[in-house]
Amino acid sequence: MTVLVTGGAGYIGSHTVRALVEAGESVVVVDNLSTGFSAFLPEAVPLFIGDAGDENLVEGVIAQHRVESIIHFAGSVVVPDSMRDPLGYYRNNTMTTRSLLNVAVRASISRFIFSSTAAVYGNPEQVPVPEHVPTRPLSPYGSSKLMTEIMLHDVASAHGMSYVVLRFFNVAGADPQARMGLATNGATHLLKIAVEAATGQRAKIDVFGTDYPTPDGSCIRDFIHVTDLAEAHRAALSYLRGGGNSVTLNCGYGRGYSVLEAIEAVRRVSGRNFAVQYAPRRPGDIMTMVADTSRIRATLDWTPQYDDLETIARHALAWEEKLVRERQAEIQHAASA
Ligand code: UDP
Repeated sequence: MTVLVTGGAGYIGSHTVRALVEAGESVVVVDNLSTGFSAFLPEAVPLFIGDAGDENLVEGVIAQHRVESIIHFAGSVVVPDSMRDPLGYYRNNTMTTRSLLNVAVRASISRFIFSSTAAVYGNPEQVPVPEHVPTRPLSPYGSSKLMTEIMLHDVASAHGMSYVVLRFFNVAGADPQARMGLATNGATHLLKIAVEAATGQRAKIDVFGTDYPTPDGSCIRDFIHVTDLAEAHRAALSYLRGGGNSVTLNCGYGRGYSVLEAIEAVRRVSGRNFAVQYAPRRPGDIMTMVADTSRIRATLDWTPQYDDLETIARHALAWEEKLVRERQAEIQHAASA
């Protein structure tokens, strides 16, 4: 009863692998390490370095490890990049999943959990946004994920597969024990940028837009701690094993914080008063994105443990400080060699 996690060495994937292993699951990972790190994986977890869309590789892994369920994270996730390189996104997200599903069908995999995104909603008609509203993605990233959702639905209907689609809101924070976190160079996510500023790696943080019709003029997001999101995957697997029907679920806390509030939380927990500069709106940004969480709470046996912006900021900061220490140690080591 092994679970295959694609992208399991990445930011969210590695937290999920850890949650599964700690729950006693047998896990195997396929990751091309383009943004992941093998060091994020517990030692006992086999890692196959390659693409989730490499049918030969994945077919071999499924047979060798008797895989019964797939949790699929591998893909590209940066909205502005997807605007510049749409075909890259359709390849890495949509086509890769098509290949993975092809193998899954051949191997009679009966359970599939897919990482989708709140970006499928575009500018939501209703906030908090429930799952049933029309999906109108504004970026190739969102479209590539929505296309995959549709494909998964069709494949599941035709081949007797059950799935859970988890639509992630703004994932942030790091492992409470600082074993894993967001380590990708050139990250663009708000909390990551804020902790980089708090640790002196950036001179300032820009706030993209302070003229939105929101209480403080900045955008509003539903930040979810990465460990809680990992637990949602574990809960989704239990749900499917218990015979649950295929379902699409928002993954957030259902509470919005503004960009300025999030930055303030990082300033508070770090005690560092880094510079905050007001900047023009970032093209493509959605003003307010908050999840209606009724469905996930009613469907999964899932109780968030870290639903607190300061806790998220504290864990993100502790992880960032660890990265800085490691980098300094490397530089010292290189200088003394
Ligand atoms: N943001 C910001 N400054 C930054 C990074 C992000 O003001 O340096 C804002 C961004 O414009 C958006 C919010 O923070 O309103 C969340 O952006 P992020 O890229 O973290 O996630 P998204 O919601 O776009 O997926």
